[in-house]
Amino acid sequence: MAVYNDSLCRVCRAQHKKLFLKGDRCFSKKCALDKGRGAPGQKQITLHFNKPTDYKVHLQEKQRVKMMYGVLERQFVRYFNIAIRQKEIPTGDKLLEILERRLDNVVFRMGFAPNRRAAKQIVSHGHVLVNGKKVDIPSYITKSADIVEIKETSRKIPLIQESLEERNIFPPWLEVNKDAFRGEIKSLPNIPELALGINPTLIVELYSK
Ligand code: SF4
Repeated sequence: MAVYNDSLCRVCRAQHKKLFLKGDRCFSKKCALDKGRGAPGQKQITLHFNKPTDYKVHLQEKQRVKMMYGVLERQFVRYFNIAIRQKEIPTGDKLLEILERRLDNVVFRMGFAPNRRAAKQIVSHGHVLVNGKKVDIPSYITKSADIVEIKETSRKIPLIQESLEERNIFPPWLEVNKDAFRGEIKSLPNIPELALGINPTLIVELYSK
């Protein structure tokens, strides 16, 4: 399992970019970057950076996406190879679609966890059922019409309850019944509609060089 032990906000500050690693907090005024905190060791974000090279821009986007979804290089390359082999949708969109369909991401998107890191733990600790069966593999790729729910005996876990209570907006490809701790994957995520703030073309170009 991909684990980044460093403080999550430190990672964003080092990259001078929001990686959205702390769920709802990232959209609030509590975000370390919005408060103007610069890279670790710096007091304030420097406004004049050296212009990054083209390669660095591409590499940073890939690293950012890997961090966001908590995926290590080997698995990321595996997803890219799946994406490039299919011809139905652009490679970059397919790559993001696969990442969005990971069970840990779905658990986060459905509001059962405040961020993807917590979602990964909730899944690997066996609190999640897919179509009525326990699935404890965070990288499990969900599909259309799958039912994802929190195991009945796990519904009292405060982290899950509080996270679900605070979440009121869900992506259009998911339908969530908060009272039942259950959600359905209505359709595969349509990446261009989701405004994820990611430029997948940079990643495709990086791997195609
Ligand atoms: Fe990054 Fe979120 Fe921390 Fe902001 S709150 S610095 S986006 S992890």
